[in-house]
Amino acid sequence: MSEKLAINGGSPVINNGEIKNWPPIDEIDRKMVMASLEGGRHAFGPNCIEFEKEFAKWNGNQFAVTTNSGTAALHMSLVACGCGAGDHVLVPAYSWSSSATCILHSNCIPVFVDIDWETMNIDTRKIEAAITPTTRAIVVVHLHGLAVNMDEVLSIAKRHNLKVIEDACQAHGATFKGKKVGTFGDCAAFSFNQNKCLCSGEGGMFVTNNEDNLLKARQLWSFGEIRTPAESRDYHAYALGWMYRNNDMTAAFGRAQLSKLDSYIRQQRDNELNLRKHLEGVPNIMLPAEPANHGHTWYNYTIRFDMKALNHENDAAAFRNKLVKALQAEGVPTSVWQSYPLPTMTVFQARNAYGKGCPWNCQHAVPVKYDPKDYSVAMKHSDWHTGMTLPLRSPNGPELGPKVGAAYMKVMSNLDQVEGITL
Ligand SMILES: *Cc1c(COP(=O)(O)O)cnc(C)c1O
Repeated sequence: MSEKLAINGGSPVINNGEIKNWPPIDEIDRKMVMASLEGGRHAFGPNCIEFEKEFAKWNGNQFAVTTNSGTAALHMSLVACGCGAGDHVLVPAYSWSSSATCILHSNCIPVFVDIDWETMNIDTRKIEAAITPTTRAIVVVHLHGLAVNMDEVLSIAKRHNLKVIEDACQAHGATFKGKKVGTFGDCAAFSFNQNKCLCSGEGGMFVTNNEDNLLKARQLWSFGEIRTPAESRDYHAYALGWMYRNNDMTAAFGRAQLSKLDSYIRQQRDNELNLRKHLEGVPNIMLPAEPANHGHTWYNYTIRFDMKALNHENDAAAFRNKLVKALQAEGVPTSVWQSYPLPTMTVFQARNAYGKGCPWNCQHAVPVKYDPKDYSVAMKHSDWHTGMTLPLRSPNGPELGPKVGAAYMKVMSNLDQVEGITL
């Protein structure tokens, strides 16, 4: 079944324009954003306050604070949990960089835990070995739309008296045992960046069910002030604060998208079921799993190439890059999301945060190691994976399943042509 791959001049399986962009915009978005624009209250505006109420209700949290990024909400979580100078905070070795750099912003030291091959999330069996008397908190990341097993995390945290922060930036609406992420730990952070399942351009949300956490997070959020949005300002910094507030137009956009979020997630789950049917027969790829008790939202559909069967274990990343290039030429919007596990990133290897080796060598610090060999699963995953978001996202529907499946089949059945690709 030799067919010329598009990268070698053959015709692509999926044509330009067949896959629609994210997010879908309709009259609801236009109306709400325009009303905010004309409304005249762009900071501390009514849409910010309503967005917080609506998101808290949607997710099942008591409190929510809207922010200008998910990273801001993560930093607020660290501060709300009382993490401070020299404290160790556990975080998975594979995630977005700011899952770990938010720890540095609080003067704490990230301690990485390897991931589980099956779920791609933190390996809960390896958490306890990383805990020391200086460990203060765990940042769990619900990666790709799949919740971490929170029964296991919460029981470890309880045993060792640790705070739990959920990085839910990729997992709006993901569930564990029927309960939504962001409701298990002490605090949680969501992102509303362009690519996320709830997009307001940029933006985020801090959520908690604890009023003390809320107050501490709010101080950091707005210049160390302690007033509520309804009270008048006394222009006094009571604590170290940043400027993490959201603006009204972004919040209006977020509210409009939130009103459609449940239908987006339903569409993603339908699209995944359909896509899986068309990928199951493709040789030498490993499809992502949805373990029992987990409601996956398929934020990112991450496939691993079986480099062992492909005989490319020793040059996995390079061969993966060729496969990705061939798939992209066929019109599949797939890419390599994170090719560096966090502990291999320069910021950690060089121990360069706020200068002069701090926080790693501050007087409160207990030394840590960032040896890539300790994160072998994250290393292998980084080299073997590719991920896609668009074909699963609304307004794309079941029509794309057969096409993406056919493109994968074409590339994986013409490996001799892939071998010849120059990078
Ligand atoms: C996107 C993302 C963040 C950061 O969110 P921003 O809104 O971009 O600051 C943090 N963690 C994870 C896992 C993410 O995917």
